Amino acid sequence: MRSISKTEPLSILAINGGSSSIRFALFEVGGTPHRRLAGKIDRIGSRGTNLIAVDQTGESSRPRRVKATNHRNAVEFLLKWIEQHTAFASISAVGHRVVHGMKHSAPERITPALVAELRRITPYDPEHLPREIELIEAIRERHPTLPQVACFDTAFHRTMPRIAKLLPIPRRYRDQGVERYGFHGLSYAYLLKELGRIDTTEAMGRVIIAHLGNGASLAAINRGRSIDTSMGLTPAAGLVMSTRSGDLDPGLLSFLARREKMTPAQFEQMVNHASGLLGVAETSSDVRDLLARERKDRRAADALALFCYQAKKWIGSYAAALSGLDTLVFAGGIGENSPTIRARICSGLDFLGIKIDAKRNSRNAPVISRNVSRVKVRVIHTDEELMIAHSVALLLRAKGAAHS
Ligand code: ADP
Repeated sequence: MRSISKTEPLSILAINGGSSSIRFALFEVGGTPHRRLAGKIDRIGSRGTNLIAVDQTGESSRPRRVKATNHRNAVEFLLKWIEQHTAFASISAVGHRVVHGMKHSAPERITPALVAELRRITPYDPEHLPREIELIEAIRERHPTLPQVACFDTAFHRTMPRIAKLLPIPRRYRDQGVERYGFHGLSYAYLLKELGRIDTTEAMGRVIIAHLGNGASLAAINRGRSIDTSMGLTPAAGLVMSTRSGDLDPGLLSFLARREKMTPAQFEQMVNHASGLLGVAETSSDVRDLLARERKDRRAADALALFCYQAKKWIGSYAAALSGLDTLVFAGGIGENSPTIRARICSGLDFLGIKIDAKRNSRNAPVISRNVSRVKVRVIHTDEELMIAHSVALLLRAKGAAHS
């Protein structure tokens, strides 16, 4: 290992593995991180797996067919592709988004012991951890000395007060680690950092962030620390999402088990993949599709109305948890791009000091509240890969070690 100075530029590959996709981005991190290459392999596991990349000039490559039946094949393809497009030896480290990190509160260098631990905690997140371990191992086999770093999506919320983490079930489960963890932490950390860059005072105030994408959650942040968030032990909790139900009556599992002989695996499949907007609308989980259909299809209208109603309720409850509100931030595919959804969520929230400016909102302006609004309402583009690169650079520089 050679030591790294505080100013030496680092080249960091950020990997963000989803259920059927792998997003990646290559950053040059000197002072400000600079994105040299970014892209996505999607539809992994189904027909038509593709790699699309965008270079630093913003030029998109033609989609390339990828022969990959699983994440391991896909990342092997990706590594070969990156090796053809850049001097791989110059890459200083790889950072991974690891969705569940239980008690880990900061990014960590991946060691065999950490991989063993991730395997041990897989029952807490069987949806994501096995694929993430597969990606880590595929990279380690091909580049055994390349440092890899785990950036945990749960880490941001480790600051939540004990009572916000506590689940009201027999106490012995808490001792086994059954508690509320919360997710989307890399996105929240990035957005808060970005808010701090725009206005330090706001970032240290009472902030609610609504990360509204296919996966959707909200977080209440006070003085830069997460004090509550809508997801829980798993990412299935909280707000209604594209295909996840969000919070449900706990009696539903036994009701369906009795009535339909539904097994736990079938229940898990239903609440993660066949519920939420898709479950209610029956045609699509995509907000753009639902907005296009809502006038003629009651089911699409119901799905959108439920989404906005629930988001409004979370904002109200978090304003209470924070004893007031200074800033509301919208982010994620829906939060950043849909004036209609933002307007519906914020309607009737004047009593909290939220007043939306229709013109600013319609053009997705950085500030969409009126000048007289007591609460500043912002739209900020989130960037989980950039947060990964930033975190990896900090860790490498602190440890003073990289690829030898
Ligand atoms: P993921 O959680 O998979 O990263 P995204 O953050 O990309 O998801 O968000 C995807 C969602 O954003 C989809 O429901 C999509 O319809 C919605 N979306 C993207 N652009 C728009 C838009 N212009 N108007 C409304 N919804 C949009």
